[in-house]
Amino acid sequence: MKFKRPCVKHIYPIYSINETVFRIGAQLGITKEFVDPSGQLLALANQLNGKPLSLVIENLKEMYPTLTTEDIEFGIDLLDQADVLEEYCELPIIDDRYIPNIHYFRRYLKDINKCIDIQRNINESSVLLLGLGGGGANVLTLLAGLGPKQLTIVDYDTVELSNLGRQLLYKQDDIGLSKAKVAEREFRKMNSSVALKAITKKIESSADVYELILESKATIVICVMDEPPFTAQRRVNEAIIKAGVPCIFGGSQISRGRIYSVIPGITGCFDCLNIHYTKTSPNFVGQFLGFQKINFSPPTIAYGPAIFQLSAVLADEFVRVLTNYTPPMSLSTQFEVNFEDGASFCHDPWPRYEEDCPTCGDGNVEDWEIFSYYSDEKEYETWT
Ligand SMILES: [Zn+2]
Repeated sequence: MKFKRPCVKHIYPIYSINETVFRIGAQLGITKEFVDPSGQLLALANQLNGKPLSLVIENLKEMYPTLTTEDIEFGIDLLDQADVLEEYCELPIIDDRYIPNIHYFRRYLKDINKCIDIQRNINESSVLLLGLGGGGANVLTLLAGLGPKQLTIVDYDTVELSNLGRQLLYKQDDIGLSKAKVAEREFRKMNSSVALKAITKKIESSADVYELILESKATIVICVMDEPPFTAQRRVNEAIIKAGVPCIFGGSQISRGRIYSVIPGITGCFDCLNIHYTKTSPNFVGQFLGFQKINFSPPTIAYGPAIFQLSAVLADEFVRVLTNYTPPMSLSTQFEVNFEDGASFCHDPWPRYEEDCPTCGDGNVEDWEIFSYYSDEKEYETWT
């Protein structure tokens, strides 16, 4: 018997729906139903609340004298196969705000100690958050509930009235103030145990990002900068590859948003994606150049409820990439959320082009026309 103190996961209720059937769990996809006319399995389930196995067996035998130890262990195995059991564990003394997170991870992991480790892993992380606009302001709020050890936030912008429809971290009185400074003030009210550093800075090169990664000792980066379009992501990509630090990228279009994550040396990077599109989509380079030429500058399209959805997916993906509590959704693929109908899907994956990619592989930047159209290509040629 693998359990010393078998326990029905506390997150799942045990309840009868009639005289012969009981259920454990109350969510579609989780609820397990057991036909149990004798009531013995239900009695066993109710005994599995963390007491030692020997006591469970003793109690059951007292209730049902014909049951053998093997019968009871068989019943425990049956419940375990339904994935509703875990080994009992006292929760450690931990900041109460994180306990509900740990309960959430219990949905995914059998061992409560692993769930605690997931939260500890978050609490030990150092996060660099680039951009405090629609995505960043909301991701920051979610990070307050997750509790990294260190958090460095970067933006150069000031709060404007037009931000307040979706960047609810900022208040009317903050208009005209530095976003980084206001975000710092508000974040401290939410979680003072995080070592927060706010930097007002315009990121203008990969070297800027690389320096920030080193200075902040970041273990993971979240990039929600969107200017200049594509170039911002390319700058961050080059820096995270050089530093060997994973990054979650997020961005919104009109009524859809996308996230993708890059793990240096493992997944394809942003430049691999450029190469992938060049190889697989005949119109890609032409379309990119076409956009560059018209200098298309639409009005800000940003609807609060839509941005919130994408920010939440992004924050969860940060935890997935950092801890692997469940597999990330955006490795080597773009995970897209469609705000029109709430659907989500993954784009076709792209590989890591080790031979072709000038950034994460051995390729030459001159071999790929697309890179010559990025706004700071010259910098890419000189900065190492
Ligand atoms: Zn690459």
